[in-house]
Amino acid sequence: MIPKCPFYINGQFIEGVEKQNIINPSTGKVIAEVSMASLKDAELAISSAREAFDQGPWPQFSLAERKAFIRKIAQGILDNAGQLAELETQNTGKPIKETTFMDIPSGAETFDFIANNFIDYLEGQEISVPNAKAELLREPAGVVVLIVPWNYPLLIACWKLAFALAAGNTVILKPSSLTPLTVLELGKIIHQAGLPAGAVNIINGSGAKIGQALCEDKRVDMISFTGSNEVGRQILQYSAKNVKKLTMELGGKSASIVFNDADLETAVNSSLTAIFLNQGQMCTAMSRIFVQEAIYDSFLKSFVEKSKRIKLGLADNPETQMGPLISDAQRKKVIAYIEKARTEGGQIVCGGKIPESAELKNGYFFEPTVLVDVGAHSHIFREEVFGPVVLIHKFSGSDEAATLANSVDFGLAACIWSKDLDLARELAGKLNAGTVWINTYGMFFHQLPYGGFKQSGFGKELGKEGFLEYTRLKNIIVDQSAEGKPLVNYWYGF
Ligand code: NAD
Repeated sequence: MIPKCPFYINGQFIEGVEKQNIINPSTGKVIAEVSMASLKDAELAISSAREAFDQGPWPQFSLAERKAFIRKIAQGILDNAGQLAELETQNTGKPIKETTFMDIPSGAETFDFIANNFIDYLEGQEISVPNAKAELLREPAGVVVLIVPWNYPLLIACWKLAFALAAGNTVILKPSSLTPLTVLELGKIIHQAGLPAGAVNIINGSGAKIGQALCEDKRVDMISFTGSNEVGRQILQYSAKNVKKLTMELGGKSASIVFNDADLETAVNSSLTAIFLNQGQMCTAMSRIFVQEAIYDSFLKSFVEKSKRIKLGLADNPETQMGPLISDAQRKKVIAYIEKARTEGGQIVCGGKIPESAELKNGYFFEPTVLVDVGAHSHIFREEVFGPVVLIHKFSGSDEAATLANSVDFGLAACIWSKDLDLARELAGKLNAGTVWINTYGMFFHQLPYGGFKQSGFGKELGKEGFLEYTRLKNIIVDQSAEGKPLVNYWYGF
């Protein structure tokens, strides 16, 4: 029987009237039937979060009490890790190795980490000022809407939810309607952890249908959004109506720069991961690789040869290295970008096709694809494809590499490969990217704030700064001037 997946509102599991089938992108088969939120459901979720914030008890709990709940959520994820990994794999097409070793344990770790770190920044602070006693308070931001994309459904939900809850906010969490299954399961874990009703509300639904209602509502204080630029811009407009606090984690077109003196094997192997992991559906995908002249041919040869060896397969097979794209629509978008690149002079040196294997014919698979000779003005050079497609270019000097890397509207991340750490460090300073990895890729730490520049968004996720995004600052100032007579009290001489 196909499982049904209700919402979680005000501590209760509620079936929506409208339903939607969830498809396994490896097989094209229906794996679940989920409730789709109506405007009325969105209204219920907002009222529930507002009331839980205003009446408590979640924001009023002591830090020790909140930490205990958050640790229970971490443990709940770990206790259900196997089932969550399978569900994430079935829903997203991510190879089971990735969900088992990355997405699910990292999600649990985020809750555990925040229970042990940064939360004490919420303690008030006395600031020394003349003639007054000043207290600086960090309060929760209020009711926060957390909007999550489909590429890391549970992990990004955990990043947002753990930090927002730790700060004392109440939340409405909205997964992508393509991939709501693990986030809806998280609702059960939160319920079992015993959080008070209304502290966490989870509704699944079409962003186009309920997004505006969630983002425009005056009772919502903050929106933490991860997704595309297109939707990010819409949310900026909705929230302008009542000036909400926002964090925006948007798209990328990241560059990897490989110098002549790089360790070639490491640079090739890591560059493969940096574009083909999760089928290239990563905001930090290094979709443009710039290789210095002397090693360009050997890098390209090795990269292409290894790309051809990546094992495509059904996502639940432990041997699979690359699964399907999330949907047929996403695959069509990728194919359209490649076609356009060809008309703009690009050459496909490997991939570029739907695989022919009978086993994969019902899924949304696409071969790892490498393009060369793509001009810096072509669409595929400047726009996010969000698929297993990489452009490889030649460069001569460090300044040229920086100019090419910085020539797009995004600024999320970059990689530099060189044994000359001084040169790499100097170049890192010149790159318009919120994260620069040197001789590695994809190292994320809960300790470090993560987020992009330019059109990759603003605000941070993770790190102390990411935690403080979910708070607001209040000054309380008590007069202590001599004889309690500050000048302002007698300004008009009365
Ligand atoms: P998307 O923008 O289509 O959707 C993201 C979320 O927004 C979904 O939950 C969707 O339902 C919701 N949404 C859609 N329309 C809405 C509206 N009008 N109002 C409010 N919410 C709405 O993005 P996607 O296709 O799910 O994810 C891929 C994108 O996410 C890529 O651009 C990728 O780079 C980006 N991303 C960025 C980061 C980062 O940290 N910078 C991380 C992961 C993904």
